[in-house]
Amino acid sequence: MKKVILISIDGMRPDGLRQCNNDFLKELTKKSSYTFNAKTVFPSVTLPCHLSMFHSVPPQRHGTLSNDYVVPVRPVKGLFEELKANNKKCAMYYGWENLRDIGRPGSLIASEYINAYSFEHTDGMLTERALNYIKLASPDFVFLYMVETDEKGGHDAGWMSETYLDYISCAIDNVKKVIETVGEEYTVIVTADHGGHERTHGTDEPEDMTIPMFYYGEDFIAGKELENVSILDIAPTIADIMGIIPPREWEGKSLKNK
Ligand SMILES: [Zn+2]
Repeated sequence: MKKVILISIDGMRPDGLRQCNNDFLKELTKKSSYTFNAKTVFPSVTLPCHLSMFHSVPPQRHGTLSNDYVVPVRPVKGLFEELKANNKKCAMYYGWENLRDIGRPGSLIASEYINAYSFEHTDGMLTERALNYIKLASPDFVFLYMVETDEKGGHDAGWMSETYLDYISCAIDNVKKVIETVGEEYTVIVTADHGGHERTHGTDEPEDMTIPMFYYGEDFIAGKELENVSILDIAPTIADIMGIIPPREWEGKSLKNK
């Protein structure tokens, strides 16, 4: 299982995940190495956090401190570029257009963006599109990004509101579909970029900075709780699973079971 699907569920707080009452969480926890206490980076904002997820450096190093992308003065190689350089086929499915800047042009073999407000259940649509493509083309790495939790849940209705919890539960239904469809062939990683409070996020408070993480696949011990995990560890772990040497500038560590 050297192929990986990374699922980022925007703004998903660990306690929101626990309180959304989705039955699949129990199975996910039992079969993954996991943590409900991983740390994201400051500022706890979507584009800086995802750039850190894909480049394994804090925002102060990649230079994007808000949702407006900043071309770095000293670029760090990102996960998509590293995978492309190693002849891996990458695809991305996403519901927020600014995220296109997490990889350089030319890194992807397929991608699809659907605006979250253009339809109901765009996270589910993107999941279906990704799974169809996976069945068709069997890419090496797929990034699936769900944003309804953050936009329609957190910002529109409030973090920890019923609406927010319902969107998390829908997102976990999508995760279940991915694992049940391709969990034999792919390592599936599930995480979030940041949390949130009231109708916002971006601070260094625990509600905004704490994220859950699940690693489902043969390189990870089922039911093991991980400690001292950072969002910076995601890219090195994926590189390790796929047999790629990470760039020296990456600051995170691999969480793969040795
Ligand atoms: Zn976000």
